[in-house]
Amino acid sequence: METDSMKIPAWTASEGAHRARELFGEAFPELGRPSGVWASPGRINLIGEHVDYNGGVCLPIALPHRTYVALRPREDTRIRLISDEGDAPRWEGDLSAVKPDGGIPSWVAYAAGVAWALQRDGYAVGGFDAAVASCVPLGAGLSSSAALECAMGLALDDVYGFGLAASPAGRAELVAACISAENDVVGAPTGGMDQAASLLTTKDHALRLDCLTGATTQVPFDLAAQGLAILVIDTQAKHSLVDGQYGQRRALCERVAAEEGVETLRQLPDPAATLTRLTDPEAVRRVRHVISEIERTEEFVELLTKGRYGELGALMDASHASLRDDYEVSCPELDTAVEASRAAGAWGARMTGGGFGGSAIALVEERNLDATMAAVAQAFMDNGWRGPRFLQATAAGAGCRVSKEEAL
Ligand code: ADP
Ligand code: MG
Repeated sequence: METDSMKIPAWTASEGAHRARELFGEAFPELGRPSGVWASPGRINLIGEHVDYNGGVCLPIALPHRTYVALRPREDTRIRLISDEGDAPRWEGDLSAVKPDGGIPSWVAYAAGVAWALQRDGYAVGGFDAAVASCVPLGAGLSSSAALECAMGLALDDVYGFGLAASPAGRAELVAACISAENDVVGAPTGGMDQAASLLTTKDHALRLDCLTGATTQVPFDLAAQGLAILVIDTQAKHSLVDGQYGQRRALCERVAAEEGVETLRQLPDPAATLTRLTDPEAVRRVRHVISEIERTEEFVELLTKGRYGELGALMDASHASLRDDYEVSCPELDTAVEASRAAGAWGARMTGGGFGGSAIALVEERNLDATMAAVAQAFMDNGWRGPRFLQATAAGAGCRVSKEEAL
């Protein structure tokens, strides 16, 4: 099967900058050029799923796919925004309208929410004109939302001269502002993995993120040197009927932690004892996933540190089984993507992200990439599903300024 048309390529920095700059020029012809272009990546999580809100450990890498923002500050407090997505949404309003429950369109809350968060944190953000161009697929579980927030955050940080992006501590502040944009301004109760992945990663490294302490560690992750690749399979499935499922699981975990006298499941003094004490079979399954997933993630980190790539696949498989059977957040499309890639020779595969649709990842030998894509596409066709889309993930670097148009 011909799979080229199903691939989503990553733009080079100059291509992304060009697209954002062109859109900026078309939307705001009277302005001429933007002050610069900033880009920040989407992400996949290698392992450590549904553990962030349990104080666990996750292990994202930044994708080479990024969201590009061409921006110019204004003398007043107006905001004008345009994006190249779908019907090229455009918005114009005042900075004061960007706030929790501000009644603005949700894409604007994602894009401009970070301005509100930075202001709240004492940074004097003014108005701006911005054009957004992205090659991160939206709503595929690859965190187009954080890519947008972080690219905007980097742009505002730079043009208003806060200098946060220049130091690790400053970047951590930017991460917090972007998380707040999503939690408070958009109103989406998500964890902080996506923004950390977008702003704190290093090329050829995965980011070990300890969600209890906020500590981050760079873990070597250079697959190409091993002849390996990560294939991302966007199932294009969205099971929106299951909207309350995330909240239910989160509430259950928090309830069990409280019953055990700790704040998060990560802090259980004796996880095995908690499991034996639990009587509700659903609670046993959910908690068992969280405990075992944190262990698997630590093991995965250790294997990477020792260069034992051959053993990673088994952990990915176990993670998927746990998410499917114990946490029950998979779906037929994700299971099929995982099974078909394994049958085609992948070393391991799992769903990545929140589940109920979105994307799966498979660890494959580079020479088997095409055959694996063909096998997954065939399996989707056999089920009568819309064709999947594919991305190749390499561990890219964190967001940064990609084009300097004029001195600031
Ligand atoms: P994901 O982060 O997995 O892609 P989300 O539902 O968290 O999915 O975020 C997707 C939403 O983020 C979109 O519906 C849109 O509101 C906003 N968004 C992300 N990228 C862009 C973009 N380039 N242009 C406009 N809106 C975007
Ligand atoms: Mg998101």
